[in-house]
Amino acid sequence: MTDDAPKPDLTLPVAAFFDVDKTLVNGASLLFLARAARSLGIVSWRDILRFGLKAASFRRKGESLSVLDEVRDRGMRLLAGQHAERLHALAEQVVSTMQPRIWPETRALLLAHLDAGHEVYLISATPDFLAQELASTLGATAGIGSGLEIQDGIFTGRFTSGTMHGPEKARAAQAIMAERGLDPADCYAYSDSSNDLPLLSAVGTAVAVNPDHGLARHARESGWRILQLDPASIRAERKRVKAASQSG
Ligand SMILES: [Mg+2]
Repeated sequence: MTDDAPKPDLTLPVAAFFDVDKTLVNGASLLFLARAARSLGIVSWRDILRFGLKAASFRRKGESLSVLDEVRDRGMRLLAGQHAERLHALAEQVVSTMQPRIWPETRALLLAHLDAGHEVYLISATPDFLAQELASTLGATAGIGSGLEIQDGIFTGRFTSGTMHGPEKARAAQAIMAERGLDPADCYAYSDSSNDLPLLSAVGTAVAVNPDHGLARHARESGWRILQLDPASIRAERKRVKAASQSG
């Protein structure tokens, strides 16, 4: 949508969908999850070392879907046998370590949508319990992630369905918009990755945040806004959080 386009009627319900990894958080949420699982004694250093190699490769290669799936599956197998409540405690720990790595600009945008009365959904390949915890911490409407299979209160190490990425994200967003009676033309989506083109293309206003090469090109061709975030802003935010935690 260009600046000349008619402004959406804000009295109508509107939703904004935010990708998590590299869009809202400067990093990979599964890596934060691995660190937190280690600090709670859920997994060993040995597990983390193996996982860390994969996560490093994820950061080098960008968000290739096959690498994402592999990292996710390895990470999740480490959590098999955990009680659902323990996963909730783990999610709280993960979100607290993520806080200083949340892009202040993206968080400000998210809050601006909430202030405007919009519904805000985080939509991520990350496990659903983590997407939900992050969403509730940020005051977002809901977090949609990859569903974990829980049997008798215990995580099996498997997912209930496919990973929440690529076309799955678009389908989930479309289901929400249909269920909530939202006009997709009035809705927004934010992502860094060309994997999320289906989601970005499903709404009226798509915004590329620190886009990868493919998304940057598509965004330029489509006239989508491109936000380039500055790592210095995250460093400043980390210092601020640290100072606040020391004074508090
Ligand atoms: Mg992403």
